Amino acid sequence: MSWLRSDDRFRTHPSGSQWFCQRFLPIIVGMGAWTYDSQWLVMDGYDARITYKNMKSLRMRIKPPHGEVVVSAPLSTPDHVIMDFLRERHEWILKHRAEVRSRAAAPESFVTGGRVPLWGWWRELVVEDASRTSARIVGGQVHVRRPANDHEAARRAVDALYEREMGPAVVEELERWEPRIGRQPTQIRLKRMTSRWGSCHPVTGAMSFNVMLAKFRPEALEYVVVHELVHLVERGHGPAFRACMSAHLPDWPERRKLLREAPC
Ligand SMILES: [Zn+2]
Repeated sequence: MSWLRSDDRFRTHPSGSQWFCQRFLPIIVGMGAWTYDSQWLVMDGYDARITYKNMKSLRMRIKPPHGEVVVSAPLSTPDHVIMDFLRERHEWILKHRAEVRSRAAAPESFVTGGRVPLWGWWRELVVEDASRTSARIVGGQVHVRRPANDHEAARRAVDALYEREMGPAVVEELERWEPRIGRQPTQIRLKRMTSRWGSCHPVTGAMSFNVMLAKFRPEALEYVVVHELVHLVERGHGPAFRACMSAHLPDWPERRKLLREAPC
């Protein structure tokens, strides 16, 4: 079910700046009890799409490639709360929108000045010649050493960095979620997989996670960890599985979407 909240209307923010609610766009998502309802706010310099969901706190993301600003808000969040949320982040939003839009045309590349995604953010690369290959995080950058002009070695070094990042991140998520779901894997493997983000053997209880999850926002990894743990309760992806997911991680459909888009 969904509903229209109102027709077009003007709002005045308590601080005096004027906000224009351009239109209200109902969205129906086939997730049983889920009700989605979104509206657009025309902001100073950008439009923000506000989507109301059964969740606990406000979240915002800037979607590639066009830099759309998407805010997820708990159901019945007062408008002024969302406005304050966006106003507090105004400079940040403008800066990152510009970055997202400028990056849309430039894929990851393994040279100095190139960039690689890590936990949902592009990291600038600094690449140096060296006999041994390595990649490490220095400040906000990724420093890569590799034999001169060996781009494939640089790629492998970055993949190894993803694997090193993933190990503790997966363990941390499992430690948080095992007691909640009441199950734990018998074995964890990190793999570079092309078609899956994770897998779980329901009989042996062994789990695998794709090291490339380190490219995406941590919320995506958390979704995959919960997904695989829930498979120890419910096989398949039927209604019982989805109900269990929703009970533990109500915004799991949004998180799953992260993995269908570019990582940053
Ligand atoms: Zn599954």
